Amino acid sequence: MTSLDPLGDDPVSPEPPISQDLNKPMCGLCMRDDRPLRPARCDERPEGKLGFPYGMYHCPECGAMVVAGFPHPHLCDNCQPKEEA
Ligand SMILES: [Zn+2]
Ligand SMILES: [Zn+2]
Repeated sequence: MTSLDPLGDDPVSPEPPISQDLNKPMCGLCMRDDRPLRPARCDERPEGKLGFPYGMYHCPECGAMVVAGFPHPHLCDNCQPKEEA
């Protein structure tokens, strides 16, 4: 019906320069953001370890770097720990 002006692209891009990457959820282990993420299958609960002498440590189950006081990061399917019978 109506033909719009062919001015498709904005002269000024509204995208922030770098912060975009930081906001993008990524795997807590391989740091990739191009794979589907799932909550980690670990029993490790770093969010319950507030007050621990160390702030960051490796999850004993999956090896991802976790931060005491913060929830375990999600993992991509590739990094999920093997399920133990
Ligand atoms: Zn991963
Ligand atoms: Zn883990």
